[in-house]
Amino acid sequence: MSKKKLAIIGNGMGTCRLLDELAARGAAFQYEITVFGEEQGGAYNRIMLGKVLAGAAPDEIVTKPPEWYDRHNVRLNDRTRVVKLDTLRKLIETEDGQTRAYDVVVLATGSQPVVPALGGMNDENGELKQGIFVYRTVGDCLRMRERARAGDSAIVVGGGLLGLEAAKVLADRGLHVTVVQVKKTLMNAQLDEIGGEMLAREIERAGIFVRTGRTVEAVYAEERVKGVFMDDGSTRPADLVVLACGVRPRIDVAKASGLPVNRGIIVNDLLATEVPSVYAFGECAEHAGKTYGIVAPVWEQAAVLADVLTGGSASARYRGSKLYTRLKVAGIEVSSIGAIEPERENDEVLQLVEDRRNSYRKLVMRDGRLVGAILAGNTSAAGTLVQYFDRGDPLPDDPLELLCQAAPAADPATRMVCNCNKVTEGQICEAVAQGADSVEAIGDATKAGTGCGSCRAELGQILSRSPKRALPMVAAS
Ligand SMILES: Cc1cc2nc3c(=O)[nH]c(=O)nc-3n(C[C@H](O)[C@H](O)[C@H](O)COP(=O)(O)OP(=O)(O)OC[C@H]3O[C@@H](n4cnc5c(N)ncnc54)[C@H](O)[C@@H]3O)c2cc1C
Repeated sequence: MSKKKLAIIGNGMGTCRLLDELAARGAAFQYEITVFGEEQGGAYNRIMLGKVLAGAAPDEIVTKPPEWYDRHNVRLNDRTRVVKLDTLRKLIETEDGQTRAYDVVVLATGSQPVVPALGGMNDENGELKQGIFVYRTVGDCLRMRERARAGDSAIVVGGGLLGLEAAKVLADRGLHVTVVQVKKTLMNAQLDEIGGEMLAREIERAGIFVRTGRTVEAVYAEERVKGVFMDDGSTRPADLVVLACGVRPRIDVAKASGLPVNRGIIVNDLLATEVPSVYAFGECAEHAGKTYGIVAPVWEQAAVLADVLTGGSASARYRGSKLYTRLKVAGIEVSSIGAIEPERENDEVLQLVEDRRNSYRKLVMRDGRLVGAILAGNTSAAGTLVQYFDRGDPLPDDPLELLCQAAPAADPATRMVCNCNKVTEGQICEAVAQGADSVEAIGDATKAGTGCGSCRAELGQILSRSPKRALPMVAAS
């Protein structure tokens, strides 16, 4: 039986996982798989871009080198931008004017940085002037680090995760860095005002200036950027301006192809678009009115889509993801789970603020169950809280015990350790019992720690306290 042609547009973190999921289901017997990616080379861990900005070689964050594609009979067309699908004739049109046939196509085009319309920012071709950057790809990092010199000054527009990460790396490289955040708090999607203020203090302690509730109105640039005009009338010199103002799903190909789009490409529980044989997943997709901006939901979707494409499980459905993030921002651990503020009149809130220890813990509860939490500085209760949040288990009579760790999770074996890959302590202990003797080996066996990496220290702790596999007895000769 001849194989169907499966084309995947985009070669980012979602595609990387989809290819693994497809390989695990033996999809190569069903499909000839071709990947089109506009970036150069194999897929990489975008979450680790900070390392490249800090000076690491791009290869260090590659998760699928080109040989992987060869070994798995996947054809990789890198540096190839797809512009449109002809869904009637089932053709893919690329930027260089070529067309390729497909039977089934998956859009995994991710997101693009939001570029605010600041005055003076673009040259006559509409390109960003020299010294103005976004932060999304290896190419962005290489260009930014080439430009960034110790002693230069940088303005980072946006105080979310990406802005703070870029600010920290640039400050570590010896630049004078100011973060300008239009909202009152830093990381306002993950933190409330108290958490945001605590984070701002820590960021300032790292030598970075923070201006919240302010914005940049225009850039002053001749050929290169020279400074910015703030909305309070002040000016600031700047050799670099980094735009970290959020992302929006990349729907250009879908739009050009006449697929139904909203904020993202609209898909159902099978990750199928309304047009037969066209699927979408990852940050470009919109499911049940929601788009996602972190990797865990993208990887959940990849597993479902692999089942759908291979017929691996007839009941495979994507029902949406519960959101929690665990991050390390400028050296500070932050966990944010579900609602960060009470949403209903009867929601209860418990807050524990320890200014001297730079620790802030908050629970949002509804009818005795956890609907949200913030942990900043001290995130040791994160795994337990995620478990209560995920399962909707009733909280103990005194929920404070959860924060103080007096009441451990009902079942440590099911306590979530790696949020990105949804790996529990039980699965990690099992991998150790089977012989995994390093954090890398645990990652190979379970995938834990291979996403954002913020759980790697905890993996080390679990490893050191887990009983190891007994070595086989060697008879004395
Ligand atoms: C600096 C940074 C830090 C991050 N930190 C975290 C974190 O700590 N935790 C977390 O969970 N998430 C984090 N994220 C988000 C995470 O990287 C994304 O959730 C994830 O990459 C989404 O995967 P994706 O495949 O949907 O999109 P992407 O990884 O963006 O991949 C999409 C790919 O498609 C390509 N493409 C787009 N259009 C076309 C076209 N027309 N033709 C060909 N190719 C095309 C793009 O070039 C890109 O390579 C971070 C992101 C960045 C940028």
